[in-house]
Amino acid sequence: STRIAPLPAREGAAPPAISFEFFPPKTPALETQLWACIERLATLRPQFVSVTYGAGGSTQERTHATVLRIVKETSLTPAAHLTCVGATREEVDEVARRYWAAGVKHIVALRGDAPNGEAYTPHPGGYAYASDLVAGLRRIADFEITVAAYPEVHPQALSPQADLDNLKRKLDAGATRAITQVFFNNDVYLNFLDKALAAGITAPIVPGIMPVSNFKQAASFCAACGTSVPQWMAELFEGLDDDIETRRMVAAATTAEQVRILQANGIDEFHFYTLNRPDLVYAIARILGVKPLIA
Ligand code: FAD
Repeated sequence: STRIAPLPAREGAAPPAISFEFFPPKTPALETQLWACIERLATLRPQFVSVTYGAGGSTQERTHATVLRIVKETSLTPAAHLTCVGATREEVDEVARRYWAAGVKHIVALRGDAPNGEAYTPHPGGYAYASDLVAGLRRIADFEITVAAYPEVHPQALSPQADLDNLKRKLDAGATRAITQVFFNNDVYLNFLDKALAAGITAPIVPGIMPVSNFKQAASFCAACGTSVPQWMAELFEGLDDDIETRRMVAAATTAEQVRILQANGIDEFHFYTLNRPDLVYAIARILGVKPLIA
């Protein structure tokens, strides 16, 4: 089993490649918060930063606006999330063409989910699954394409093997990287990497790391997406609902431990779900050995 690595987790190793995920802000106040977050995390020179895409039309416009502002105002490399939900192939292709024309050359290609917890059904005339979207994007332009992977198996997959076959299909269709759904059990992720390798997958499967300080919110999100929340984590946060300071320290400690174990096991790329908040992610990246150009 995995050991807890002493600091630094891998002496002499190059700092890992990191990337950050943001969500498009709904209000001017949240936009200010996002931009403060982007400015702080930009100093760590991420490989790319991605912006999520919601099912509703207004979210799509916000995603577009956020990605374009990143292009215009920063030297970061943006990756725009794009889903198959509620749109024809032509509509999705049009969004992709707009991105390409604006200099956005990296897409995180996803199926997406039906709104309001309904069962997913492909849009008539739309891309049915992420693998179809990847193939469609390849026809449009030479995008760099990232897809989603599920160490704990996607909740709607017919079987773990079918889900792994689906990941391979997405990569064979032209994606070059997968980012995982959030997970807290490193052994599950490391075993998944072994299974993927055995299935002939050689593309990087980058761990999606979420520092959790709001345990209740994270637990309900995880229940919906098939991520198991360990009992130890529930116990660590027990009784801390009104104590945000301690929750943040617990989050820093548990996430630092998680990434150090992964780093000690040779993982050299990390994707952070920032939730548009910089501080924990900044500290964790530092713990991984990532430094700003001017310290
Ligand atoms: P797919 O790879 O298409 O798989 C979906 C399910 O269908 C799986 O169970 C798969 O096994 C199954 N499947 C695939 N092909 C077939 C087939 N031919 N026949 C039968 N079953 C099949 N959601 C958003 O709305 N916006 C975002 O910005 C967003 N960003 C994300 C980023 C990451 C890194 C991750 C991990 C998830 C993200 N999601 C996002 C959530 C994602 O949209 C959901 O998890 C969705 O349910 C599945 O998307 P997918 O791309 O993995 O789908």
